[in-house]
Amino acid sequence: WKNAPPNLRAIAEAGRTHGERLFTIYEDERVTYDAWFRAVARLAAEFRERGVEKGDRVALAMRNLPEWPVAFFAATCIGAICVPLNAWWTGPELAFGLANSGSRLLVCDAERWERIAEHRDEMPELATVFVSRCDADPSGTERLEDIIGAPGAFADLPAADLPEVDIAPDDEATIFYTSGTTGEPKGALGTHRNLSTNILSGGWSIAMAALRRGDEPPEPAQKVTLLVIPLFHVTACSAGLMGAVVAGHTIVMMHKWDPVEAFGLIEREGVNSTGGVPTIAWQLIEHPERDKFDLSSLETISYGGAPAAPELVRKIYETFGALPHNGWGMTETMATVTGNNSEDYLNRPESCGPPVPVADLKIMAEDGSQELPAGEVGELWARGPMVVKGYWNRPEASAETFVDGWVRTGDLAKLDEDGFCYIVDRAKDMIIRGGENIYSSEVENVLYDHPAVTDAALIGIPHKTLGEEPAAVVHLAPGMSATEEELREWVAARLAKFKVPVRIAFVKDTLPRNANGKILKRDLGTFFA
Ligand code: ATP
Ligand code: MG
Repeated sequence: WKNAPPNLRAIAEAGRTHGERLFTIYEDERVTYDAWFRAVARLAAEFRERGVEKGDRVALAMRNLPEWPVAFFAATCIGAICVPLNAWWTGPELAFGLANSGSRLLVCDAERWERIAEHRDEMPELATVFVSRCDADPSGTERLEDIIGAPGAFADLPAADLPEVDIAPDDEATIFYTSGTTGEPKGALGTHRNLSTNILSGGWSIAMAALRRGDEPPEPAQKVTLLVIPLFHVTACSAGLMGAVVAGHTIVMMHKWDPVEAFGLIEREGVNSTGGVPTIAWQLIEHPERDKFDLSSLETISYGGAPAAPELVRKIYETFGALPHNGWGMTETMATVTGNNSEDYLNRPESCGPPVPVADLKIMAEDGSQELPAGEVGELWARGPMVVKGYWNRPEASAETFVDGWVRTGDLAKLDEDGFCYIVDRAKDMIIRGGENIYSSEVENVLYDHPAVTDAALIGIPHKTLGEEPAAVVHLAPGMSATEEELREWVAARLAKFKVPVRIAFVKDTLPRNANGKILKRDLGTFFA
């Protein structure tokens, strides 16, 4: 294990080093590092006995539960490729992930199995299924508890070592599916090196920001994290979970996101950091019951995954006195590539920050022909040890996206003179109105600034001669009002005329979002049909 890649060395050492510290808290289930490690070693041995070999795919389909990090580390430490599936997926979507990855073993919770069971015939390679938290004994599956026990009893498992392995840093470790915002989800094939890189990235960007303002770097990160985003997204798994294991932090899990429950957990467990996506940060800030709780332990609120309105940074300081951290990344980069925090972020509230120290960014003309100078908008390309090998079983998409060690992100962005990155829009969300480019996020940010607006999305609607015209869907704060005309005037006072939405639709409920907080723009066209 001394020569194993850092992410695996961390697993091998964490059980002993962090021993009695709490690793996960989920409802009344408290699992120490020692107990978690016993379960990992037990399950890893079981995987081996079931014939799982290096490179085999082991799928994982469950909500955030203490079993998740047991199964994830058990699979990766024997050299299997762990495939965390999106727990919000329907039966057919889960079946797609299982069949597409060719998984031979599945660890899931009862709720997921209910959805998958009827599709089992579509996955001939799936030999073994372990189901957790299942009262009955569904045919063709085995109970995970029969192997590792319930989380409360992990500590009673015998102490054991991890199986001996021969794994190199560039061996494959994970397949995470992209969010499917712009098309069918693609399986990003990550390595042990990719996972290891992210252990450092978060801490590095905070330390770099401190260096820039001439301060001592702060103590490395936080001690108790409230994990509110799902582990099947890279950020939660590779940055959140891996980072915790190395440092011996405690992760508080939630079954389902709920702001009031989050406040209660922050108070009860003395949570130091939380976040996930910008929507979650906003919900914490705006919730009327916030003042009933003692949230003074909060030190950091981090988010990424979707554009954050510029005023969020100031709001976080004012509301919680906590450090806001905006990171940009994508499934193809196993999470963090840039980070913006502290004064840097206050000074540049529109930026997702400079690249983490081991990443490079460049802005390319959209046809990929040439690199553009600072200040110009083009496609963002990223390079570094966090960029995955390619897409699983998608040679053509891989060849298009991964070029000479760079990943073409599909995001339109610019860099300033200091190397800070500004995400302007997704290339696919840019609206071209009679040859004029409209970046949807620019207009959305202006709408957000309106006191009555709490949510906004801009999409292109077809126009005979202009090609497309901008139209907005907005959600107003309860008790506030604004007319279509007022909002149009508000935008017109701040942006060029061609950017003003020609139509504005109001929604009663919030805008449709996926599990990761991204607005599903493809569903919004119906408002203007
Ligand atoms: P798919 O690739 O399947 O269409 P997706 O791109 O939404 O889905 P993810 O890998 O989850 O899948 O998301 C990465 C994208 O999220 C980035 O390309 C970018 O558009 C957006 N994003 C991530 N972080 C930030 C950030 N800090 N600010 C703005 N946008 C961000
Ligand atoms: Mg993408």
